[in-house]
Amino acid sequence: MSRPRLNKSLVQVYTGNGKGKTTAALGQALRAIGHGYKVFMLQFMKGSKEYGELQAAEKYLPSLIIVQSGLETFVSKENPSQADIDLARQGLSTAQKVIREGHYDLVILDEINVALDFNLVDVEEVLNLIKTKPDHVELILTGRYVPRKIVEHADLVSDVTLVKHPYYQGVPARKGIEY
Ligand code: ATP
Ligand code: MG
Repeated sequence: MSRPRLNKSLVQVYTGNGKGKTTAALGQALRAIGHGYKVFMLQFMKGSKEYGELQAAEKYLPSLIIVQSGLETFVSKENPSQADIDLARQGLSTAQKVIREGHYDLVILDEINVALDFNLVDVEEVLNLIKTKPDHVELILTGRYVPRKIVEHADLVSDVTLVKHPYYQGVPARKGIEY
């Protein structure tokens, strides 16, 4: 029996300086998987294996593939390393291939907005990806600092606003909540 496919899929953006962008994308993934869809998440600028979503996908969610294309260390906006640039570009080329092949119904480009803001990848390439994606592939772009050009070409943009975050009360990142 053939599995369900989306039609007239859209481009969503989750941006802003509050917590909840990557986890919103993962929630959207869970919902889609429940209906038989397949999800591919490419995590830009991330290389740590500590994220709970990696373990969850591997152990429990065969319909969710997560690939990281970044180093474990923070990227310097002013002075990114060559490896940071190379990995971001490789990530984009993997995403291009995955989207073009059309096997996955939902493709999440996690933190791509930050990769764009840091000039690790070219905004025109991402716009081209948006414009040429197959009709049945829904795209989600996450991360702070989304460029205006991406907003113009998106169908849905949610801006998560920081009102409070425990980090500013001195609470460090918590396992299972922040990672
Ligand atoms: P999450 O992955 O929890 O959904 P996010 O994707 O919205 O968060 P990012 O901007 O990607 O947040 O930041 C990554 C990490 O920084 C997350 O662990 C998140 O909890 C934390 N974080 C998010 N917003 C803030 C903030 N305003 N101040 C400090 N830490 C934050
Ligand atoms: Mg995030």
